[in-house]
Amino acid sequence: MKFVILLLSFLSVAFQISAQRNCGSFEYARRTGNTYNETTVDHSIVSRDTVANEIITIPVVIHVIYHNAAQNITDAQVLSQLKALNEDFRRMNADAVNTPDAFKPFAADSRIMFCLAQVNPIGRAQRGIIRKFTNKESFNVDDAMKFSAAGGDDAWNTKKYMNIWVCNMQNNILGYATQPGGQADKDGIVVQYDAFGTVGSLRSNFNKGRTATHEIGHWMGLKHIWGDNSCGDDGIGDTPQQSGYNNNCPSFPHLSSCSPDANGDMFMNFMDYTNDACMNMFTEGQKLKMRGLFSAHGLRNSFLLSFACDSSFATAAPLPVADSTPVAKANPSVQIYPNPVQHDLNLVALNDYDLTGKSIAVMSATGQIKLKKIISKESDKLDVSSLQSGVYIIIIGQGADRVVLKLIKV
Ligand SMILES: [Zn+2]
Repeated sequence: MKFVILLLSFLSVAFQISAQRNCGSFEYARRTGNTYNETTVDHSIVSRDTVANEIITIPVVIHVIYHNAAQNITDAQVLSQLKALNEDFRRMNADAVNTPDAFKPFAADSRIMFCLAQVNPIGRAQRGIIRKFTNKESFNVDDAMKFSAAGGDDAWNTKKYMNIWVCNMQNNILGYATQPGGQADKDGIVVQYDAFGTVGSLRSNFNKGRTATHEIGHWMGLKHIWGDNSCGDDGIGDTPQQSGYNNNCPSFPHLSSCSPDANGDMFMNFMDYTNDACMNMFTEGQKLKMRGLFSAHGLRNSFLLSFACDSSFATAAPLPVADSTPVAKANPSVQIYPNPVQHDLNLVALNDYDLTGKSIAVMSATGQIKLKKIISKESDKLDVSSLQSGVYIIIIGQGADRVVLKLIKV
């Protein structure tokens, strides 16, 4: 009888461990030294600053690394994760109403979104879901899933794509992330296959896609809300101090020894350790920290010039792997001037290019068509004075005749 009770209590402890969130990011950072220094900038990136309220859209590639059929998750499961990310990061998640009134003023729409890549790093049209069989039954927090030679799959250019590896993790780890500024070919997040997305065969407490939301929070420089320390600090002004992480789902208010006020822990923050169904918010402070990475020379600034979700940027001829942005290619067929431009943009055909009757579209960096017209003669003008300052993409014509140019509006 004693043995049975012992066995039962052991099983209950084992069950609790497996039922709790377990993120490997802190341990990974400690072991590899991959810690984000907020003052670090990357002057090699030549881009622009983010515009206030601009929606930042990040092309995503998902590497499904599977050893058996269950791990080879469906497209529907992958796409359900993207939907959940867009809802969580835009605060369009249905359970946003569950944020306690005391914390609602701090809850933020980060205006960051995610799209499935449609163009691969060599410029070919390819959807960003890659499936790869592996001989490995499970993976550790050691980046093996990120390298084809180690039984995983190599990253796509991590300056242009956010890489997500979905695989079977050891030791009940649900996922881990690299922080900004780490080794380029390891940059991205890893998520346990049955804690990814909102449809399919999922762990009961981790079936709303919040493991990926949490790991992308780390990928954008966020720390765990308890600062990975007893009464630690996550460096964010509007997240209250808490003595440690929360599991399962406490009821509000949940006070801890270092709660600053009667509202207690913000256990419903995506950066705590609670169940998926318990989490529902990022704060304004977390939003500012995440968006700061995309500003001029920020460590994630290169994503502002990634158009990998727009299949019209696919080219017939492969581009050099090092440069996956087709717009960077000089195209001699049409000259535009002045560039930067303030009012009228002049278009002149070069090398027998026939401009007459072609369409011209001016697209924002976020993929919205801002201006469009049909060109009436071989040298025409386009009034761009209505555009806000920033970087735009000009697309002239279609198919093999298509010319893509970069325009700076001042
Ligand atoms: Zn974490």
